Amino acid sequence: MPLFAERLGAPTCESFLRPARVLNREGSVVTIGVPSEFARNWLLERHPGCLESCLSEVLREPVRVELAIVEPDESLQNAPAPHPLPALEEAPLNRDSGTGTPLNPKYTFENFVVADCNHFAHAAALAVARAPGRNYNPLFIHSKVGLGKTHLMQAIGHMVLQLHPRSQVIYVSAEDFVNHFISAMRDNSMVKFREVFRSADVILVDDIQFIAAIEGPASEEEFFHTFNTLTQTNKQVVIASDCAPRHLQIMNDRLRSRLEMGIVADLRCPDVETRIAILEKKAQSEGTELPREVLEFVAQKIISNIRVLEGALMKLCAHVSLDPSPLSIPQVEEIIADYSTASTERRLSLPEIAQYVADQMRCEVEDMLGAKRSQEIVWPRQVAIYLCRELTDASYAKIGEYFGGRDHTTVLHGYNKVGEMLAKDEKTLWLINDLKAGLRGD
Ligand code: ADP
Ligand code: MG
Repeated sequence: MPLFAERLGAPTCESFLRPARVLNREGSVVTIGVPSEFARNWLLERHPGCLESCLSEVLREPVRVELAIVEPDESLQNAPAPHPLPALEEAPLNRDSGTGTPLNPKYTFENFVVADCNHFAHAAALAVARAPGRNYNPLFIHSKVGLGKTHLMQAIGHMVLQLHPRSQVIYVSAEDFVNHFISAMRDNSMVKFREVFRSADVILVDDIQFIAAIEGPASEEEFFHTFNTLTQTNKQVVIASDCAPRHLQIMNDRLRSRLEMGIVADLRCPDVETRIAILEKKAQSEGTELPREVLEFVAQKIISNIRVLEGALMKLCAHVSLDPSPLSIPQVEEIIADYSTASTERRLSLPEIAQYVADQMRCEVEDMLGAKRSQEIVWPRQVAIYLCRELTDASYAKIGEYFGGRDHTTVLHGYNKVGEMLAKDEKTLWLINDLKAGLRGD
């Protein structure tokens, strides 16, 4: 479908090609039945040669297309050998992970800058990619727009395919899932639909918030069953959403609670150092050198969305390629003027976090902030430090000051300690998962 939709436009495709069927194929001549004279003329006059080129591409050999009109009362379903158009059936679902996976090749772990704002989500994604279907099922990633959900979930897909090239990885937006579902119902092809989605080893469902928004309970229910079938057979489900499970507009409370059962990881706005690092990496991969002060300036101006940050950078790169003379800051300011800079994230405070962690880990906040160094207090302290760094803008020095005047290397050590444990110890991952969820009020 994407191929046809791209070349013919979605409306033409929906009205004239959806109901079309291959009636006959003799050698290189394919006869396609279309629903009306109008459809036939439309396709021939407005899009000459287009069906030929699409079908040739899909079938990987040159074909000639003849269009026949099949009267509605002859019912296309009853026409002899009603093969659906191959591209309508196969392409969008991409069952064959070996050929043409729809993953964006740039969205890999290598290209993902890890920082405090995404450390936990990254660790969870990596754990899932290394052992899909094992322990963190589902992985639910949420954030505001443009902070790396799609990137991270596709990175999982890439890594799974790299480690297990024969596995079935399906990446699908919730919107496409619903559209496939609706077509499958209309075309009586639910069996095939279910076979495709329920035979995935790893399914990556993006922008789940659309699942109910577009269609309502039926597609939500279908998704729920797909979800259950896969998780019950230890297949990995990864979900991205623009809000926490608790705030999803879905009707099915069982689905909601299932979504919360695995790991819930959020991505937050990167701090200024991270934004600079992302810009540096991106400029490098574009092969454009921009002075550090320019990158710093951009990173200070655009704070809420990495996609916007990248957009601004691309615009700058384009300018530099047209006019290589050095950019002044006022010029940069003008070039990126229309990129927004607003951020409205609620921030937790250090005392709030310390108190919550102390309550949950059953120790006293005074001990956490004090000098004691027994194991019972060192670990909760390190966890609290980790969360302070992840959930607030405070620097290591600032956190150290709050935690009883510790210097920033001690704080860094605590932070790294938890980071290491996250990578190798499942209990730590769950602990941090639950604490973060609690702190965010999910
Ligand atoms: P979302 O799905 O949350 O809206 P995307 O995954 O589409 O966001 O990310 C938006 C853009 O920002 C993408 O081009 C992505 O590669 C880039 N991006 C996001 N996070 C990072 C990161 N940590 N490191 C590098 N690039 C990132
Ligand atoms: Mg996305």
